[in-house]
Amino acid sequence: MRETSFDVVLSERWGEGLVAVESGETVRLDVRLESVHEGILATGDARTRYTGQCGRCLIDIAAPVEVEFQELFAYPGEEANDFEVQDDHVDLETLVRDGIVLALPFQPVCRPDCPGLDPVTGERLADVSDAAPPQSIDPRWSALAEFAPEPAEGTDDSAPRSQT
Ligand SMILES: [Zn+2]
Repeated sequence: MRETSFDVVLSERWGEGLVAVESGETVRLDVRLESVHEGILATGDARTRYTGQCGRCLIDIAAPVEVEFQELFAYPGEEANDFEVQDDHVDLETLVRDGIVLALPFQPVCRPDCPGLDPVTGERLADVSDAAPPQSIDPRWSALAEFAPEPAEGTDDSAPRSQT
């Protein structure tokens, strides 16, 4: 059995969606290789970082992504295998790449409650609400608050009643 850790700098982009692991990003690998009867069992994890855009408000985002993997690399034989030991080496790239690409979020968001964009102005709603919390009232309008109707009970979920 052998354990090893190493970094790989990507020479190409991994992923096709709103977020991807860009070329030049480093992937950290911790791998344990075990010799078994049929071949070499590779177990480990891979950590890197994806970048891209929030699917709701299109702001740039970056977040870590980590995957665990385990795969038997069979010694070359009669049967065709997806993963084979070649020249006493195991090629982890396909395995790690597929794992990471599958782990990338399909609908990435900058934060779980991202409110997205204002459909009218196209502004980020998160920016708008951060700048002006909804509970603050412009002092020039505060007198009008007295005239605000009391919240009616039971109107939120009741179906429209017949007026006849
Ligand atoms: Zn967002």
